[in-house]
Amino acid sequence: MSTGFFWDERCFWHGGGNYSFTLPVGDLVQPGGGLPENPETKRRLLNLMHVTGITADLAMLDAPAATDEDLGRVHPQSYLDRFKDASDTGGGELGLRTPFGAGGFEIAALSAGLAKAAVQSVLTGAHRNAYALSRPPGHHCLPDWPNGFCLLNNIAIAVEAARAEGLLGRVAIVDWDVHHGNGTEAIYYDRADTLTISLHQEHNYPLDTGDAVDRGRGPGLGTNLNIPLPPGTGHLGYVAAMDRLVLPALTAFEPHAIVVACGFDASAIDPLSRMLATAQTFRTMTAQIQRAANEICDGRLVLVHEGGYSEVYVPFCGHAVLEELSGSQITAPDPFDATFMARQPGPRFDTMLSDWLDALEAEHAATP
Ligand SMILES: [Zn+2]
Repeated sequence: MSTGFFWDERCFWHGGGNYSFTLPVGDLVQPGGGLPENPETKRRLLNLMHVTGITADLAMLDAPAATDEDLGRVHPQSYLDRFKDASDTGGGELGLRTPFGAGGFEIAALSAGLAKAAVQSVLTGAHRNAYALSRPPGHHCLPDWPNGFCLLNNIAIAVEAARAEGLLGRVAIVDWDVHHGNGTEAIYYDRADTLTISLHQEHNYPLDTGDAVDRGRGPGLGTNLNIPLPPGTGHLGYVAAMDRLVLPALTAFEPHAIVVACGFDASAIDPLSRMLATAQTFRTMTAQIQRAANEICDGRLVLVHEGGYSEVYVPFCGHAVLEELSGSQITAPDPFDATFMARQPGPRFDTMLSDWLDALEAEHAATP
């Protein structure tokens, strides 16, 4: 039993739109630069894996695209038709900052297919755990509204495909991408069989979602957990939030498997956040969640790639996660470790964060 790693070169070929950073080009915005969500962060992670040779300790795999039936369990046919039509006629933009080119539909279905295969491989026992290098990402995508670079909700598609095959009952989705997992939350807000947990920088993206008081609705009341964190949260803050809020919720929920929406955009030099996580932070969070999975659900753990926009740093953060997941002794020492660990928040911030987590605990307990 090894770690399955699912990827496909075509996922790096997704693109579209005429942006300079997150601004559409025009008027005073000079063309050039492109969206922060570009292939390089993911491709450079894969390149680093090839250079260190950690690929020899992983099962490197591809996967078929998610089928129309798979997509239809999460997204309405009307949205899928509009997406496919635009994709067949050169590309377009159907939501907010989700441009795609010709064939974008097929690439997005492939990205979801990687997540689906990763979940299946763990649930069938083919692999102990798995990582899907999905692109485009998925966690912002609502059933009928793509946003935040996300065109299909990869994790929900994977989870529902596994359920349709009778492989999966209760599942917990832990989202440590620095942005709120608004799409995943919306899809499962009324569902009692799916625990959705999102750690995110408060008031980053989206601006109007991700509050701690949003705990789910109807049968799903209590199965949504938002953990908005203050800008500047670093290594100790993330580890504490996992220990104090995430792990107890997982233990109480008793899922059959844990899926992580694994973004690397809480890193100290990410252009889309103001956090101070390091490669050590992602390694430690992986160890924490792996211990929880071992205790709760026989180690069944799948990570699906989401955001992360530092071309230089994502590869080292991702490599650390894969070392931890697979137990490989092949390392890629973080060249920024000394710099970023020396610049972590001080004791005053730690005291403030401890109070902050106390307040979140109280808000979670009060609702419902
Ligand atoms: Zn993100």
